[in-house]
Amino acid sequence: MGRIFQIAQLGHAALRRVAEPVTAIDQGVRELVDDLFATSREANGAGIAAPQIYVSRRVFILSIRPTPRYPNAPEMEPLAVINPQVLWVSEELEKDWEGCLSIPGIRGRVPRPSAIRVRYQVLDGEPVEREFSGFAARVFLHENDHLEGMTWLDHVEDNRDIVTEKEYLRLIAG
Ligand SMILES: [Zn+2]
Repeated sequence: MGRIFQIAQLGHAALRRVAEPVTAIDQGVRELVDDLFATSREANGAGIAAPQIYVSRRVFILSIRPTPRYPNAPEMEPLAVINPQVLWVSEELEKDWEGCLSIPGIRGRVPRPSAIRVRYQVLDGEPVEREFSGFAARVFLHENDHLEGMTWLDHVEDNRDIVTEKEYLRLIAG
């Protein structure tokens, strides 16, 4: 059972720090992962990174499923990612909607590679190599950005690609 944390909001220095690698996957890291899942679930997130709850460690979780914030998201097995490395990204980019629990009220169309190959550790410490595409690749890269002190706003090409949450929900409803 994780605890629900307050989420750092854009402007807080915690979101601009480069996070520290995890050197040992101990009880503290397992509790951090539980807290990330609980906090993301409560906020209807598709994922959340440790710096967003003021913890400067290279850990994030993906919690991808249809929610009120992402009604069109696919259903994916929840995943805890520790010390991720992006090994390869496709040349092909896709521009699609993103939001962030640390940047409430707005959404943007963000260009991202449509496929990636990554390596990371899971809670049992084993390194995993895996490919993601589409929305999962997008969320993985979004959360990975948080470990580098970046947000989706840093990738926006044009301010016209930023809309309010209300307009976003109207736009995706067609
Ligand atoms: Zn975010």
